[in-house]
Amino acid sequence: MTHVAPQKIDCHVHLIGDGSSGGGCWLRLKSIAHRLMARIILHQVGLPSSALQNGLDAQIENRLVDLVCGSSLDAVVLLAQDIPHRDDGTPMPENGAFFVPNHYLLQVCSRHPGLFLPAVSIHPARRDSMDELDRCLFAGARVLKLLPNCLNVDYADPRYRPFWEKMAAANMILLSHTGGELSLPVMNHQFADPRLLSHPLDCGVTVIAAHCAGRSGLWDADHTDALLDMFGKWPRLFGDNSALCSPVRCRTLPKILPESIRQRIVHGSDFPISVSGFGPWRMGLIDRDTWRASSQEPNVLERDVLLKRAIGFDDAQLTRMAQLLGNKSSDPLTISPP
Ligand SMILES: [Zn+2]
Repeated sequence: MTHVAPQKIDCHVHLIGDGSSGGGCWLRLKSIAHRLMARIILHQVGLPSSALQNGLDAQIENRLVDLVCGSSLDAVVLLAQDIPHRDDGTPMPENGAFFVPNHYLLQVCSRHPGLFLPAVSIHPARRDSMDELDRCLFAGARVLKLLPNCLNVDYADPRYRPFWEKMAAANMILLSHTGGELSLPVMNHQFADPRLLSHPLDCGVTVIAAHCAGRSGLWDADHTDALLDMFGKWPRLFGDNSALCSPVRCRTLPKILPESIRQRIVHGSDFPISVSGFGPWRMGLIDRDTWRASSQEPNVLERDVLLKRAIGFDDAQLTRMAQLLGNKSSDPLTISPP
């Protein structure tokens, strides 16, 4: 029997779009600051700012294919983004900053099988949430992404239990934002707390806590210790290291580098959020030469891989997503709790 090396996967890559291909995406750039930030982000990922007026859907899709193929990664988990909803299921598109519908995400992923793995996004208060979950599972989605503080998702709401139970039965992984959020409008700051994830975990869902619940701003609450405490109780709980090569979020890195914690960490970039060695250098985690060398790497996905390696993450973090996707909820996890 030949041994197949496990795939190296970036578990946290955002799809964005402007609806120019008819897929239903939108991007709300209300202020000059937002438009400026969008231009900076496009520049970092290697697209001209004219992409904002000129078919962003196709340009982002093509650029992502080039970036993944030009990196040492085998695949990326590509994320949809639902709109905020009230607890009674009323949609609140006016409170969202961008929207990537599941059907569009699934279409994009089907054009690049093996390269893009879909992470759909369904607010559990949606009146069609169970049907939409069925549709997405039928289409092959294995991951669901939520951003509870921005989408207004209260994980403790007992009405969502059947939704988590269906996810668990289907071995679907919940990739959940944890900690504060700076780049998008926040609806409920309390939902940054990773302890709320005990509700889907209690229903048997495997959960990846994005950003390991660290700070996104200078003064917001740091929930990383609460998350690390939970690792002992919940063997199906993991954290991703996405966006941690940014000047503010890099402060989370030292807490998740000990070997016992690294066993629970999944590699992620948070594309198109900026990737820079400045923060890790300032924290003393890499030297100046490594920071300089990383800034010479034009491929942002590969730059993130290079920096994470230099910081102390290894191939086990890069292949952990493949391992999680291979696990069934009935299988014992091969990863031991710290
Ligand atoms: Zn993200």
